[in-house]
Amino acid sequence: MIHRLVCQFVLFLAILSVSACANDVQGNNSSTTKIDGFTVPALPAPATDTATQVQPFSDWLTDFKTEAKSKGIQDSTLSAAMPYLTLNDTVLKLDQQQPEFTQTFWTYLDKRLSEIRIQAGKLQAFRYQSLLEKIQKEYGLPPEILVSFWGLETNYGTYLGNFSTLEALTTLAYNPRRSLFFRKELLAALRIIDRGNIEAKDMVGSWAGAIGQMQFMPTVYLKYALDADHDNKADLWHSSEDALTSAAAYLKQAGWQESQPWMQEVILPNGFDYSLADGKTDMSLKYIKALGIQPANGTNWQHNDDSSVILLLPAGHEGPAFIAWSNFKVIKRWNNSNNYAIAVGLMAQRLATDYRLSVKTPKDNKPWPKTFILQLQTTLTARGYDTGGSDGWFGSRSMQALRKFQKDNGLPADGYPNNQTLKKLDLSL
Ligand code: CA
Repeated sequence: MIHRLVCQFVLFLAILSVSACANDVQGNNSSTTKIDGFTVPALPAPATDTATQVQPFSDWLTDFKTEAKSKGIQDSTLSAAMPYLTLNDTVLKLDQQQPEFTQTFWTYLDKRLSEIRIQAGKLQAFRYQSLLEKIQKEYGLPPEILVSFWGLETNYGTYLGNFSTLEALTTLAYNPRRSLFFRKELLAALRIIDRGNIEAKDMVGSWAGAIGQMQFMPTVYLKYALDADHDNKADLWHSSEDALTSAAAYLKQAGWQESQPWMQEVILPNGFDYSLADGKTDMSLKYIKALGIQPANGTNWQHNDDSSVILLLPAGHEGPAFIAWSNFKVIKRWNNSNNYAIAVGLMAQRLATDYRLSVKTPKDNKPWPKTFILQLQTTLTARGYDTGGSDGWFGSRSMQALRKFQKDNGLPADGYPNNQTLKKLDLSL
């Protein structure tokens, strides 16, 4: 999911235990928040919606129905959908709520990769072994990757969300903020019903309109949902076979390379130039080796010297380092967050080989309050390090500014606000 949904659920998450909103600490946009677990694989950013909403809802609905009819939605589908083409205040509240905390890599990871979820994933991989092998043969997706997505999105299909999708999408489409984007999704949702994939009353999902065991947005559903179990409908709610196969089809078209791994934990040598660990610079594995980087935990290199990788340092130089192949970028097509993609990748490694990180969650780890990031930004700015403004989001501009400060002060320039750096800035978390 690659769109600017504002994330909400800090409190909800604790209650629901499945999924959470993620602020991508290493992300490429300081003000972009991602939702995952509940959402929206692989969507382009919505077009800027400039229309201002002055239309009464009843008029809006009349217009929308006219458009739906003109686009071939049957009367019977519209009649069945009518009770759900309504506004839901909770959806609006969730959409407008600002998160108070930015999750660090560790808080993000610990929340998602619980021991219970990993053990459940192993059971599911065993239970669906023959299906997963069949999918691997056809689409080239490793079983552990699919199971990992499945676990992170909906706890293996056990939590699909309980909002009426039509109601959620109607609310978001009527709201002027991203009306064009959600209007398209609402039309797609009607088309799914029109096709007989599911009845209007049974179409439930996240408050943001993501549906089924893999949390596809309706437009993605229309494009990639498959009827793998041959019951004449692509049913991503009730059929795990349909859901897992559709996810594989999506990831394959997104460019998954069967011959390549996705990521590998590595150890950086002392005195390493951390500016290379920006998650962007492509390097050959040969070059990585020449830099003195080694696989972590005594493992072997997962691929050959010619392959191109990026280097990630999601928790600063005191945390784990990873190299990632192009498949990592494919995972990010699902949800454009490094933390999300690392979580998917690591979970898959736990499932397949029981791989564990060489670094443990620090005892003093905690999420970053927005007020803390604001303070960090204003302090850096006051000292002449341009964070591109102070918005409470720790994005690439802020990271860049922090790197410069660290460099000028003889600190490891990893762009991460660790205690040593904060002390130098007279700040604390
Ligand atoms: Ca089916």
